Order: sequence, then C-alpha cells, then structure tokens
Amino acid sequence: MNEYDSNRIFDTVKKIGFYKTEKLEETNIYLLNTCHIRDKAKEKVYHEIGRVKKNFRSKKKPIVIVAGCVAQAENEEMLKREPYIDIVIGPQSYHKLNSKIEEYLNKQKKLDETNFDAISKFNYLDEIKNSTKKISSFLTIQEGCDKFCNFCVVPFTRGPEYSRSFDKIVDEAKFLSDNGVCEITLLGQNVNAYKDNNYRLSDLILEIDKLPEIKRIRYTTSHPRDMSGDLINVYTISKKLMPLVHLPIQSGSDKVLRLMNRKHLISDYMKIYEKLRSINSKIEFSSDFIIGYPGENEEDFEATCDLIRSIKFINSFSFIFSPRPGTAASTLKPIDRKISLKRLEKVQNLLFENQIKMNKSLEEKEIDVLVENKINESTKFFGRSEYMTSVIFDGNDQDVGNIIKVKINKSNQNTLFGESLKDLERRVA
Ligand code: SAM
Ligand code: SF4
Repeated sequence: MNEYDSNRIFDTVKKIGFYKTEKLEETNIYLLNTCHIRDKAKEKVYHEIGRVKKNFRSKKKPIVIVAGCVAQAENEEMLKREPYIDIVIGPQSYHKLNSKIEEYLNKQKKLDETNFDAISKFNYLDEIKNSTKKISSFLTIQEGCDKFCNFCVVPFTRGPEYSRSFDKIVDEAKFLSDNGVCEITLLGQNVNAYKDNNYRLSDLILEIDKLPEIKRIRYTTSHPRDMSGDLINVYTISKKLMPLVHLPIQSGSDKVLRLMNRKHLISDYMKIYEKLRSINSKIEFSSDFIIGYPGENEEDFEATCDLIRSIKFINSFSFIFSPRPGTAASTLKPIDRKISLKRLEKVQNLLFENQIKMNKSLEEKEIDVLVENKINESTKFFGRSEYMTSVIFDGNDQDVGNIIKVKINKSNQNTLFGESLKDLERRVA
C-alpha cells in the first residue's frame, strides 16, 4: 500500500511543479513515506534523515517531509527530536500535501497534519489521475481496520475501516487499463471487508474482469472472517482471478489466536481452504505468521508447524512478534528472544521448503507468465507466474504486457528460470 501511496504522492506534487528525481543532491523536497507495522521503523527514519543532513551539510537544505504511518504515530515526538524535519503528514492526509508545502514555503513554520480524513482523501484520489506506467498496478479500494487484533497498529495509524466508492474504483481500473496496465492488485488492510452499499469485493472483481485489457486480478490482504461465500464463488466464475489466495492466519493454535483477538479459529480457516480447493485444486495459499507471540508455548508453535506442513503454504511472510506502542499486546510479557529466533528459523525453513518444492515441480513444465519488463539491456525478461513467483526468461520485446508460455529449465527458492516457448519452437524449427 505504501508503494501505491508513494505513486499517488508523486501524482499530487506534480500538480505544483515538482517531479521525481533519483539524485539526492538535486532534491528540493525530500519525502520519506514510512511503515509502522513492525519495530525499528522509527529509528530507520532518523537514520535516513541523518544521511540527508550529511549530504546537504554545505548546501541549502531541502524541505524534509515524513509521511505515512510512522508520521501518524510519532508526529509530535518527531518534530521535537529531529529539527531537520519540516512537515509530518499521516497516511489519511496526503491529499493536503500540496497546500502544506505551499504553507511551509510561505511561513517557514513546522507543520503537523495527522488527522484522519479518509473520505476527503479518497474523493481527492478520484480526481487526480493514477499515472503508473507499469504492467502490474496496485489499486487501493479500502483502508483502515475496525478489528483491533491485539498486536496490530493499523487501526491506530490508518484509522477506521473505510471503503472507496465502487464506481470510482472501476473508473480508476479503466484508466489504468487504458494506460497499458494488464494486472490489477486490489489493495486494502482488510481488502475483503470492502463494502460500498451492496457492492462487495466479489462485485468489484467481476466488474474489473469485464475490462478486455486486464488479464489478471489479485487482491490483498484478506482476513479469514471476511472470506464470504460470494467471494469464494468468484473463483468459479472469473478466469482472471489468480489462483493464489493470500490469507493471513498468524498462528496454528486456537489458544494463540484467542490471545491475539483474531476472532477466528483454525477450523474456520480450514473450511475456507477446503472449499476453495474443492472449487479449484490449482488454488494455493500463502499466509502471514507471527512467531513468539506472548503466551505461545512449544505446543502452540508445533501446531503452527503442522499447519504449514498440511496446507503447504507458498510465498508466505513470517515475523517475530514486535510490540507496537499503544496496542493491547505491547505491555504483555515477551517470550525469550532466543526462543523466538529459533522458532522463526524453523518456520522459515518449512515455508522455504514448500516454496522450493513447488518451484522444483515446475521444472521442465510450460507455465503462463505475464511479461512485465526487459531486464536492463540484456535479452532477459521478467514476468510473474500465476502464483506471483518471479520468472526470468529469454523472450521478446513484443511480449511485454502479454501472457505467454514459458518453459521452465531451472528454479531456486524465489525464482523460476526459462525460455519463451515461441522462441524455443522457432529455434528448434
Ligand atoms: N489485515 C490482515 C489480517 O488481519 O490478516 C493483515 C494485514 S497486517 C497490516 C500485515 C501483517 O503484518 C499481519 O498479517 C501480521 O502478520 C504482521 N504484523 C502486524 N503487526 C505485527 C506485530 N506487532 N508484530 C509482528 N508482525 C506483525
Ligand atoms: Fe491489523 Fe489485520 Fe488485525 Fe486489522 S485485522 S488489526 S489490519 S492484523
């Protein structure tokens, strides 16, 4: 979501004459878009600003802006601790960015803009055009969360759950498609809680499915409680909806799920898994795991390992529990760090094993790849499989934006390597 937000921030400042530069020394505005989901984010911000300071020691300083969730959570402290920061602006306020920059230029006074104003932000987003030039694009449809899992900072930094208007999302999807986008990933902290009057995520997927130039549709991140029947049913209808379901479970133990206030059980999750697999046996699952949550004992941890073995999750994320200020779990007694690290290593090995096996099983097979770009000046191209795995292969410029068959020759944990079937056939002939 921060990638989507950063692009919309560029679309915004363009309106008052700023453009993107990769050269730090020529910046007039240095804007850091930040994430607060796990620890160290705040320290990273100070570290980055230290780097900018060094670069501008003998030059006129740029306007320094900290945006995103760290700004939202640490606004006052940041302005006090680091005088080099000029503006802090929260994730629901960046539609006010241009006026804040202008205000700063006029008054040279530090500014703190961290109100939750999702409705006017989304109204504003509807007006500026999403200028992405990529083959695959994100599209935010929902933000914030009302679920309050005990470990999570999202309800505090992104605010309450809010869904964008159905029509405006479809307009943005059409605009993206007219501009060459072939794959859309619908985004939200609780993307499957999307609700605009009677429209749900399933309706959005089916509407976007009708756009001829859109070849693939994905959505992330879902919550098991919102995996409703209509959404599951879309997998029987849409050919463009990819067969990888990213559905965070966090732990394999009901006890830990209760301690986390997740409001779902392992059996609920298994029901969703079984239903989807019975619809389409090609569907694979990926997930998020929190390891070493306060109260997780060896038995709970082993239950997580068993779940990973039975569902054979691919492409998953696993993190050690990180206490976030202001959340219910922040004051709980942490479990020994060494134990957490050992458990994380075991979980990651299990997850990597699944991934390696999955990738290995594709060697010598032909798979569908959406070609995204050429890799620098080489003859190699980059694309993704239906399961989001990176594919590097010998291909052609005219394949960019198309789904082509690639014969896989080699694989490792994260990448598949191959050759475009068309090229292969041409060479053999
Ligand atoms: N809404 C989704 C759900 O509930 O399933 C998850 C979205 S959350 C923004 C992304 C992931 O960050 C979570 O699934 C969780 O694994 C991880 N996460 C959030 N807070 C964390 C914390 N305090 N420590 C470690 N990981 C955390
Ligand atoms: Fe955070 Fe997801 Fe829980 Fe909401 S449902 S509090 S975003 S982990």
